[in-house]
Amino acid sequence: MLHRLTISELAGRLASGHVSATDALEACLAQVDRVDGDVRAFLSIDRDDARAQARAADAELAAGGGGGMRPLLGVPIALKDVLCHRGQPVGCASKILEGYVSPYDATAVARLKAAGAVLFGRLNMDEFAMGSSTENSAYWTTLNPWDTSRIPGGSSGGCAAAVAANEAFASIGSDTGGSIRQPAALCGCVGLKPTYGRVSRYGLVAFASSLDQIGPFTKSVGDAALLMEALSGHDPLDSTSLNEPVPRYRDALGATSLKGVRLGVVKEFQLGGMDTEVDAAFRAAMRQLEALGAEVREVSLPHSDHAAATYYIIAPAEASANLARFDGVRYGRRVEGPDAFELNSRTRGSGFGPEVKRRVILGTYVLSSGYYDAYYLRAQKVRALIRRDFEHAFAHVDAIVTPTTPTPAFKVGEKASDPLQMYLSDIFTISCNLAGICGMSLPCGFTRQPRLPIGLQLLGRPLGEADLLRIAHAYEQSTPWHREVAPLG
Ligand code: GLN
Repeated sequence: MLHRLTISELAGRLASGHVSATDALEACLAQVDRVDGDVRAFLSIDRDDARAQARAADAELAAGGGGGMRPLLGVPIALKDVLCHRGQPVGCASKILEGYVSPYDATAVARLKAAGAVLFGRLNMDEFAMGSSTENSAYWTTLNPWDTSRIPGGSSGGCAAAVAANEAFASIGSDTGGSIRQPAALCGCVGLKPTYGRVSRYGLVAFASSLDQIGPFTKSVGDAALLMEALSGHDPLDSTSLNEPVPRYRDALGATSLKGVRLGVVKEFQLGGMDTEVDAAFRAAMRQLEALGAEVREVSLPHSDHAAATYYIIAPAEASANLARFDGVRYGRRVEGPDAFELNSRTRGSGFGPEVKRRVILGTYVLSSGYYDAYYLRAQKVRALIRRDFEHAFAHVDAIVTPTTPTPAFKVGEKASDPLQMYLSDIFTISCNLAGICGMSLPCGFTRQPRLPIGLQLLGRPLGEADLLRIAHAYEQSTPWHREVAPLG
């Protein structure tokens, strides 16, 4: 059952020579062959390229490589279709980028290579990362490995499904308003959205540049710490990346007690309308955290009511500017026309799906003169208030704990025709991006019938990733949830 190991377990076997990088990759590919016809997490896999990487890793392992400088040597990791991987397609699950090949590596990808990872496969997502279910992919909907009548979440649904189905030892996605944490919760894996600027965005196709962050999906909290060490750090190619030292995140994993840790529960998040089993799992998790020694206090985020509305002005505004580059001239698809205007409008008209068009239209509207002050500027002001709410809360607590999502994975089609319902599934995850703080989701239980994972969200101070990992690891080690395997795992 090689494909079910965590990275930490696999790394031990690779180092001792019991398993080769080729074995590890072949175990993933065999699992893809077994289950991906049902899960549909991968848009494509370049098996020859992946096998060549695994062979190179094996040569290095045989020569005594790996360890300190190359902690991921030989570990197969899959990428969301939004990250540039030199020589591989990058399409953001959109027809407009069909056939486009990355001319360079994203910094995150270059860092994973430097750490020795075997990078394989392009994972499905909502088109341009706009969505919460993968139903907005121009190709197909990825299905939840726990119940294939349900969505895996989004926009990084392929990332979460591939890890939950044990088709990859980890995956790398992006989170603009919950796109790592929400699918991680719905598929029962660990997902971490770093502080804005912690991980370079160079080579991440931009959705909303002031909100986007790259982060890992893993099977354990320990693996998330390992990947955060590889991904984090300053990059001169991204002027928003923070020039702050990267801690050894694995050092945060020792604690078994949470004595002295102050945790906040959000007064305003105790909503009606929350799924009763999600609510019960959340309450049980809070009791468990208290049993581990944490002190729980109530905190107030008075402007959180406005987070979704604020996000759905700022994110589309930035998207409308970022997506202007897909003009039929520079990238991917081109539909010819008699003049530049027609070429541009035919290319975009046929290349973008309905949700992307909705966002571009919305974003262009809120930025247009006459509406800019009423919508965009006002949203920026509310964003500042939301950020301040968190600053006040973090004066009293070390982390904030919430359910990751108000409901477990919903049925395919259930919310597809109602954008507002879809937007509301991000209600607990969105404010984290607006505030620029870090957040993660980890498994905290299951619904009964059907058996679906439930996620616990931890939100931390800027650059507080080590705090989140410490709390998450102590919780994980004291609960059985992370050991459960999906029916298609
Ligand atoms: N679901 C949210 C949206 O549709 C968040 C997406 C994301 O984080 N990329 O915009």
